[in-house]
Amino acid sequence: MNRLANFCAGPATMPTEVLLKAQAQLLDWQGRGVSVMEVSHRSAEYIEIAQKAETDLRKLMGISEDYAVLFLQGGASLQFSAVVLNLLNGGVADYLTTGTWSQKAYKEAKRYEALGLGQINLVAQGDGDVPTFDEWQLSKNATYFHYCPNETIHGVQIFDVPKVNAPIVADMSSCILSEPINVNDFGLIYAGAQKNIGPAGLTLVIVRRDLMEQASAYCPSILTYKNQAQNDSMLNTPATFAWYLSGLVFEWLLDNGGVEQMAKTNHAKAKLLYQAIDESDFYHNHVNPKHRSIMNVPFVLADSSLDKLFLEKSQEAGLLNLKGHRAVGGMRASIYNAVTLEQVKQLTDFMKDFEKNHG
Ligand SMILES: *Cc1c(COP(=O)(O)O)cnc(C)c1O
Repeated sequence: MNRLANFCAGPATMPTEVLLKAQAQLLDWQGRGVSVMEVSHRSAEYIEIAQKAETDLRKLMGISEDYAVLFLQGGASLQFSAVVLNLLNGGVADYLTTGTWSQKAYKEAKRYEALGLGQINLVAQGDGDVPTFDEWQLSKNATYFHYCPNETIHGVQIFDVPKVNAPIVADMSSCILSEPINVNDFGLIYAGAQKNIGPAGLTLVIVRRDLMEQASAYCPSILTYKNQAQNDSMLNTPATFAWYLSGLVFEWLLDNGGVEQMAKTNHAKAKLLYQAIDESDFYHNHVNPKHRSIMNVPFVLADSSLDKLFLEKSQEAGLLNLKGHRAVGGMRASIYNAVTLEQVKQLTDFMKDFEKNHG
């Protein structure tokens, strides 16, 4: 078996144990003579899997019954619209931007002003940085406050939950399950699965039930949280295989110390990598140290003419997908839960060697 260290930002690496389990069950699931992807989502066997995934996620994140947990499709990007259509309710929503994803969410939300659904207020504008709180222009009675705690492309993380009065909506696509959070601090959490949960095709929404009562008449039924909650996320055919695999990841997390243990390892991984970057003049990370992401670590080479060689040599060394996002250039190592400390050590060893040979 040849599994290399994969630092892809998404779809990202999965735990090998999970893939092996799926492989063993692929053709003949539970001795039924069929694959789990070949059975009805309404069958008792599948519903058991679906419910176990939800139960395990509730356990992992400490999600109370005040919240519905939805397993949807369309990616985090469709939630940029779904959030507005479900929550805005003729009021004002506050948006903080800190990088590409929160900017996209803001832009998408802004389109709904023209439909007369309410107002979208830009609280403060950051682009790879976090505007300080005294710059924030919060609305008096916002229906919700939207932000992205971890900007995947810029590698910018907000570690403290913002102190605002409105229900907080958070795009946690690239940081969900990376460390413990208090779900009760949030009105709604959403995340595309393909970073830190499972394969692409599944989108997780955790929404406080009282917030599901204010959807716009324009909201398509398939996007209406209350509808989906009442139908156990099976208003139409869900992404059954991605849901099943995500369930295996939740089991893996529970077997490996939960998010508490993930947080310890993730902080150790990030520390190792940032240390290697900071110790040298050859590599740089431009993010304010207070907001350096523990999941996505962008860095540049002082001499960008070496970028191509760095990528070639790292790939030869079995370190995959280190190319930075085209919007920011340079390199990026995404070090989600399934990336091991050992693999990050391999990366920092490689970086030191590369610097020795080319610095
Ligand atoms: C990847 C990502 C998205 C986009 O997710 P899709 O599932 O592709 O729509 C949105 N927000 C953040 C923070 C992301 O990391």
